[in-house]
Amino acid sequence: MKHNHNFRTLAENTIGYVGICDGCRTVNVAFQNSLFCLTLDQFETFSEMIFERQAMRPFCTTHGKELLLPTPMPNYFLLFSDDDLNSLSTLLREAAPVLAAEQILDLSRAN
Ligand SMILES: [Zn+2]
Repeated sequence: MKHNHNFRTLAENTIGYVGICDGCRTVNVAFQNSLFCLTLDQFETFSEMIFERQAMRPFCTTHGKELLLPTPMPNYFLLFSDDDLNSLSTLLREAAPVLAAEQILDLSRAN
């Protein structure tokens, strides 16, 4: 089955963007040099995690990036400053209402 990856941007700023592919319904959260590819359900969980700083450990250095988030790769971690997380939260909050509506649409299509 072929489909076009017709990407719609829902929020953007100088360090990232949030959008959804209308073809495969993948939500892309790009932030700095990271790209998170999420389902609509995962987007909600991911947003909570960022808002609440869940699953993050303090990582105290003199560099200001003091929150460490493990990844599924054992030797690879993401580091955030509080400012980073606030910028990312702003993007997620901006995209959230549209994505919530998309989720309702998907549910009504499935029935
Ligand atoms: Zn796609």
